[in-house]
Amino acid sequence: MRGVRLVITAALACGAAGLGCAEQTEQTGQAPTQTFQERRPGTTEVRPGQFRAPEFPPPSIVDYRPKSMLVTEEHLVPKAKYPVVDIHSHQRATAENMEELIAELDALNVQVLVNLSGGSGDELREGIETIRNSPYGDRFRMFANVDFTDVGPGFGEKAAAQLQQDIEAGAIGLKIFKNLGMTTMKTDGTRLHIDDPELDPIWEMAGQMNVPVLIHTAEPPAFFEEPDYTNERWLELALFPSRRNYGPDQVGFETLLAERDRMFKKHPNTRFIAAHFGYHAHDLKRAAEVLDSIPNMYLDLSAVLYDFGRQPRAAREFFIKYQDRLLFGKDAYQPSEYPYYWRVFETADEYFDYYRDYHAFWKLYGMDLPDEVLRKIYYENALEVTPGVPRAAFEM
Ligand SMILES: [Zn+2]
Repeated sequence: MRGVRLVITAALACGAAGLGCAEQTEQTGQAPTQTFQERRPGTTEVRPGQFRAPEFPPPSIVDYRPKSMLVTEEHLVPKAKYPVVDIHSHQRATAENMEELIAELDALNVQVLVNLSGGSGDELREGIETIRNSPYGDRFRMFANVDFTDVGPGFGEKAAAQLQQDIEAGAIGLKIFKNLGMTTMKTDGTRLHIDDPELDPIWEMAGQMNVPVLIHTAEPPAFFEEPDYTNERWLELALFPSRRNYGPDQVGFETLLAERDRMFKKHPNTRFIAAHFGYHAHDLKRAAEVLDSIPNMYLDLSAVLYDFGRQPRAAREFFIKYQDRLLFGKDAYQPSEYPYYWRVFETADEYFDYYRDYHAFWKLYGMDLPDEVLRKIYYENALEVTPGVPRAAFEM
């Protein structure tokens, strides 16, 4: 079975590239016919008997950077149309970098930057003190984290008590990193499931304290697939070993999402923000089903722009329908990358570049969102879902 699959993969690879197939076929002695059998209607044609080796050496996937000849309107958006809350950042504001951060954020119209990596206890308090003692007390906020190193009986109650203290100290939410479900083990040596009842007191505490839980579950679905030449994240998987989640000893994508959804449903009085659109941005029908069945669930828009920008019409419809459930977030703090988000959300531009080649080798298109929806995703929903976000910048 595996042998057959590999042959098909090799044939597809040369078919998709359209290059070097004659040569390759001769060398391996494989007829490329399986490519044609495998080909689905509506996908790229490979012409039987017409393979031709290029006269120049073919460029590699990282070298080929075609310049589009398309002449079309271009509307760069350096500054968001409305003030923005970035609900998903990991940028720490310190006395040293704060002036620089403020200048960058002002240029982008990001009014509040939420650092999800606030930590807990003393580390968190110090970060909050720095913000409070600065002239920019309304521009930065922090979420607390829970350390899942020693989960055994009694852990949940202790962690919930610590969370309560952290919120009283000024944390405005709880961030859970992706290690929960994927790699974290319990003291008994088993995998800590996202919906392990031992963790229930933590989720309940967040609800009681009226702060949201922003949780990163799983990874892009392509990370769970074999990294062969049909994998659309091949380059990223080839670059970063830690992102390869394919294999018998790895937890599956569906297992993780099922645990997540069960946990969300068990705590209806707690608001959950699923990071990275809950990894449903490639499948909006499913995103709709999930939001419909879990009313206390929200989605952040961070780090999946490449999926909105390649289906701008469907994404626009989705954003309009679920406009109360979406919150802007960026994740990696790179001031130069925010304007790509503004352009996708605000313009109707066509066929423009994304900023990172290993996320997406395709082009983006603008969604041309209505103003009402822009205001909701940029800040109104963040103020609703996260009462600790300062309101000063948004009072119109
Ligand atoms: Zn993140």
